[in-house]
Amino acid sequence: MKNFKRYLITSALPYANGPIHIGHLAGVYVPSDIYTRYLRMKGEDVISVCGSDEHGVPITLKARKEGVTPQEIVDRYHELNKKAFREFGIAFDIYSRTSNKVHYETASEIFRTLYDKGEFIEKTTRQYFDVEADCFLADRYIMGTCPRCGNESAYGDQCEKCGSSLSPDELINPHSTISGSKPVLRETLHWYLPLDKYEPWLKKWILEDHKEWKPNVYGQCKSWLDQGLQPRAVSRDLDWGVPVPVEGAKGKVLYVWFDAPIGYISATKELTPDWEKYWKDKDTKLVHFIGKDNIVFHCIMFPAMLNAEGSYILPENVPANEFLNLENEKISTSRNWAVWLHEYLEDFPGMQDVLRYALCASAPETKDNDFTWKEFQARNNNELVAILGNFVNRTLVLTNNYYGGKIPERGKTEPADKAVMEEITRIRTNVENSLEAFRFREALKEAMNLARLGNKYLADSEPWKVIRTDPERVKTIMNISLQITANLTIICEPFLPFSMEKLRGWINFSEKNWSKAGNTNLLLPGHEINKPGLLFEKIEDDQITRQIDKLLATKKANESSAGAVAGKVPVTFDDFTKMDIRTATILEAVKVPKTTKLLKLTIDTGLDIRTIVSGIAEHYEPETIIGKQISIIANLEPRKIKGIESKGMILMAEDKDGKLVMVVPAGKVSNGSVIK
Ligand SMILES: [Zn+2]
Repeated sequence: MKNFKRYLITSALPYANGPIHIGHLAGVYVPSDIYTRYLRMKGEDVISVCGSDEHGVPITLKARKEGVTPQEIVDRYHELNKKAFREFGIAFDIYSRTSNKVHYETASEIFRTLYDKGEFIEKTTRQYFDVEADCFLADRYIMGTCPRCGNESAYGDQCEKCGSSLSPDELINPHSTISGSKPVLRETLHWYLPLDKYEPWLKKWILEDHKEWKPNVYGQCKSWLDQGLQPRAVSRDLDWGVPVPVEGAKGKVLYVWFDAPIGYISATKELTPDWEKYWKDKDTKLVHFIGKDNIVFHCIMFPAMLNAEGSYILPENVPANEFLNLENEKISTSRNWAVWLHEYLEDFPGMQDVLRYALCASAPETKDNDFTWKEFQARNNNELVAILGNFVNRTLVLTNNYYGGKIPERGKTEPADKAVMEEITRIRTNVENSLEAFRFREALKEAMNLARLGNKYLADSEPWKVIRTDPERVKTIMNISLQITANLTIICEPFLPFSMEKLRGWINFSEKNWSKAGNTNLLLPGHEINKPGLLFEKIEDDQITRQIDKLLATKKANESSAGAVAGKVPVTFDDFTKMDIRTATILEAVKVPKTTKLLKLTIDTGLDIRTIVSGIAEHYEPETIIGKQISIIANLEPRKIKGIESKGMILMAEDKDGKLVMVVPAGKVSNGSVIK
C-alpha cells in the first residue's frame, strides 16, 4: 500500500435549501469525522473541507415559493447547518460556501481551462422558453401530464407519482410553473463534457486500478460504465449560479453538478495558501465522503473534469454509504419525515455522542439501514451506559475509595493480567485496520470491545471481594483497569469525542496521540485522578415516546394535508361542460405486455365500443373488473400508448400514497349516462 504524505478529506456539500438530518450524518459526516479525527491523532497532515452547495434549481424554486431571493434561502440554511455541525463536533477545518467569491473564481477558471483546451463540445438544442417570463425553463419549472401514468403534476425531469424519469418534451400539455403559460421551444447553445471520450480511461482507473473500493461504490460505477457514458451538459439557462465565463453566454450558468465539487477546491483555497499541495501533489491522499446518490458525480464526472484539466490529483477512495431510513420509512425533507440535527440537540442537550454512536453502530455502509428510536435507546442504555459507562464508573469509584484517587502500583502480574494487557494492543490494531478500510461499524464495535474487556476483567477478578483478603492483588487489578480506562480515552476518541474529553478530565490525562494506544503505563503510580461523574445517562421510555409521538404527529399532518393537494386554478362552467364525462362498462381487460402498470380495456360507452389504456394494473387484477361500471372522460384526444390507441380516460381517485380507486356510479345506470 502506498504511503501518503498528507490527507485531504472532503465531505459532500449539503444542499442549502434545508436543514441537516440524521440520514446525512450517518451517511457522510459521522464517518468522515471519525476518519479525520483518527488521522489527526496519528499525527498525519490532514485537512477536512466542507461547505454549502448553494446553486441549482431547487434553491430558486424554494425562493420563488417563499417570495424571497435565492441568496436569502442559502444564507439561512448555510448558517443553520454550519452551527449544527459545529455543535455536533464535526471536525471540518473549514465550512465554506459556493456563493462566495473564491468559488466563483475557481469554478470559472476550471471551466475556462477546459474550454480553452477544447475539452467541451458545443451543442444547440431546443428547450422550453417561457415567453411571458422571458426565460428558458429548467426541467423543474415545467409541469405537465406524465405520459406513463397520467399524473397531471409531473415535472419536466421526473414524475414523482410513478417514478419515471422524463424529459420535458415528453410531457403532455406542458406549462410553465413561473407564469402558467404554455412554453415554446427555442434554440439554445450549451457546453457538454464528452464523458464517452473518457470512458476507456475511467474503466481502467476504476475497474482495474480501484478494485479495493467498497462493493456498493464499485458496483454502481461498473453499471454506469457498462451502460456506456454520454456527453453531459455543463451549463444551464438560469439566473442563479456561476456565470459561464465565455463571451456570448449571457444568461447561462455552470450546471450545479459541475460547479459543486469544485467547491472542495475553493474551500481549500480559502483555508490555506498552501492549497495546491493538497490538490496537486501525488503524495496527497484524497478521500471523498458522500452518500450513494452522489457516486456518479464523484467517481465519474468530477474525476473526468479533473483529468481533463490535467493538474489535479484524483480521489484514492470514495467510501460512499447507502441510505438510512427512519422507523422503516424513507427519510423525506418535504414530508418532514426526519430527525433534524438542530432539533435533536434541543431535545437531547449534551448527548451528541449518543447519536454519533447510534448512527455509526447502524450506519448504512453497504446497504440501506433503519434508524428507530427504540434501537437508539437500547444502544444508549445497553451499550454506552451498561458497558462503557459502567466500567469507567466502577474503576474510578473504586480507585477513589481504596486509594484516595491515587493510581496504585502494579505488583506481580498473573497470566490473566498479561492476557488482558496484550488484548489492548490487539484491539487497537483491529480498530486501525477497520478504520483504514472505511469499515466504521466494525471499528466502533472493536473499540467497544475494550470496554467489554475491562468489564469482564473486573467481573472475573472481583476486586471488591479480594480487597478483604489480598489488598496487594487489588492494586494490580486496579492499576490494569486504570490503564484500560486511559486507553479508552484514546481508542474511543474518534467516535465519542465529547465523552472522552470528559473522561480525560476525570483521570487528569491529556494524551491523544494514537501511537500511545496499547501502552499499559499511561497512568503512573501516584498520579491523581478526580471524582468522576456519569459518563452516560439512561434514556427513559418517556423520552423515546415523546420522539415517536412527534413522528406520529408528522404522519398525521401529512395524511390530513393530502386533501389540499388538488388546489387548481378556477375554471368556468363552460370549460367544465366541454368535457364529455359519462358512464361506461368494462367489457374486457388484459395486461399490456412488457409493462407493469398498464391495462388495455375494452369499454362500452353507450356511443361505441372503444379501447382505453389505463395505468391501473398495480391496483386492479384484470379479471376482477370485467363487467364493472365506471366513469370516463370520453372526448380526450386519442393518443398512442405502447403502440395502442387509447381513446379517453377512466376516472380514478388517487390518495396521497398513490393508491388508485375507480370512481363508479352509486347505482346502476345505462352506459353513456352523462355525469354533470
Ligand atoms: Zn408518471
